Amino acid sequence: MSFQHTLATPVSCAGIGLHSGKCVTLTLRPAPADAGIVFVRSDLGGARVSATARNVVDTSLATKLSHRGVRVSTVEHILAALHGLGVDNAVVELDAEEVPIMDGSAAPFVVLIRAAGIREQRKARRILVIARTVQVKDGDKLAELRPSDRFRVSYTIDFEHPSISTQFFDYRHSESAFERDLSRARTFGFLHEVEALQAMGLAQGGSLDNAVVVGADAILNVEGLRFSDEFVRHKVLDAIGDLSLAGFRIAGHLLAKKAGHSMNQALLAELFSNRDNYRIVEGAFEAELPAPQPLSVLENAVA
Ligand SMILES: [Zn+2]
Repeated sequence: MSFQHTLATPVSCAGIGLHSGKCVTLTLRPAPADAGIVFVRSDLGGARVSATARNVVDTSLATKLSHRGVRVSTVEHILAALHGLGVDNAVVELDAEEVPIMDGSAAPFVVLIRAAGIREQRKARRILVIARTVQVKDGDKLAELRPSDRFRVSYTIDFEHPSISTQFFDYRHSESAFERDLSRARTFGFLHEVEALQAMGLAQGGSLDNAVVVGADAILNVEGLRFSDEFVRHKVLDAIGDLSLAGFRIAGHLLAKKAGHSMNQALLAELFSNRDNYRIVEGAFEAELPAPQPLSVLENAVA
């Protein structure tokens, strides 16, 4: 039996918003069972925005949520950290619109959640079980959820740049795997894109301290990469944050190729468009599924 979890105590950190460049304080607080993850804007009288797919309003640069005109943006890394460590219910309080970017990864939020501690609650977890494969395609981009006895992500990226090129990562979820293999992977951007965004008044807080920046033919960060395939690991991290907006733990296997925030949300919309695509179970899920496919089959499927 799997029970819901929340934080044991409140905990805070401060950092800058990637786009605003302004200082923002983030406080995580415990929340009751079935509350889910709720963002609270303390600078707007405590206005609330639930972390659910129906509140997603923009996915162009990061994932942005809005409810009754109240917005929170760049939510994917804090959502990934909460989901990755098994926190079902929490309040994420902000005194500005943007979640602080910290070092561009989810690792600082993992440290924060570990410092707060995680507490089991008395209600059973609800798990969304993928009942049949759902898929969205856009040219050569693909995002697909397949039935699986647990949460798994197989991700392929393909950039025409020697520092990135083609990378594949196969992730089978556990809290330790999340912390070890994904949480430290940083967001990345190309120098020409960063310069264009800054000319538009965006990415004002963006720097080599909170992103891997890819120049014309090399990575500009003097410290180099944290993993040789840090780019694809970060895409998996983003996908976990985005899919957490389903509002449930997912028993399913995400296959993604050249996808991103927009494709992840389109996939959730497709999933929820037909009640036969999924079922919701409480507490535990006994799989009646074929054995997991070997990696070689998957690599061919997304190649
Ligand atoms: Zn990201």
